[in-house]
Amino acid sequence: MRHKVLYSSAGIATQILIQESQKLIILFDVGDGIIRDLLKEGLSFPLTVPLYILLTHGHYDHCGGLFSLLGFLRMIGQSSLVEIYYPAGSIEIEGLIDIFTSSYQETIPFKLKTSSLKPLDEIKIVEDVRIVAYKMKHMGSTLSHGVLTEIPALGYAIFKKDEKWLVFTGDTGMNENLPNFLKNAKHAYIEATNLSDHHSAYHLNVKEAQKLGELAKDFTLVHTRK
Ligand SMILES: [Zn+2]
Ligand SMILES: [Zn+2]
Repeated sequence: MRHKVLYSSAGIATQILIQESQKLIILFDVGDGIIRDLLKEGLSFPLTVPLYILLTHGHYDHCGGLFSLLGFLRMIGQSSLVEIYYPAGSIEIEGLIDIFTSSYQETIPFKLKTSSLKPLDEIKIVEDVRIVAYKMKHMGSTLSHGVLTEIPALGYAIFKKDEKWLVFTGDTGMNENLPNFLKNAKHAYIEATNLSDHHSAYHLNVKEAQKLGELAKDFTLVHTRK
């Protein structure tokens, strides 16, 4: 399996591709530009393998491309399975799925399975590959309304047999689950949105993210501001 950040910039979009040729494709988050990024990556459509879309939370820069991607797959006659997983209670994601399925229910050519997840829920993908959801701590903020209430947010860990092969935090502030989540991961994608030295409740700063990254065997900071 290979993994690659297709694009990541806070407030614009984040999408990470995990691909096992001939077997499966996993996308962690699908922000704006996801179709462009997948085409640029050379993926050929319609896909002949199942597509698993795992969303960390409902902010637009993580799920804003979902409607576009599903619409694209419908248009090109995708027939293999598409599964979407998202944090329970994520109203934006449920709304996006609902508008797609209710608009096009008669003409969706692929089997679409959607499931909400709670912390520590586990998904079995194929033999020897499973994904576990971990609770993260995140909230929205806007310039006009300041920091808002906490929203459902999950990080994901892909296990190959018993090896913690890849983890992705999504957006999160420091929280008690992070050390255990990152420990001994073969590779970790860690958000580092907060460019100041100050602590934020809902994003990691670069120093915090780097310190957490040292718990993993290898790490990359993502979702920084460009
Ligand atoms: Zn974000
Ligand atoms: Zn966010």
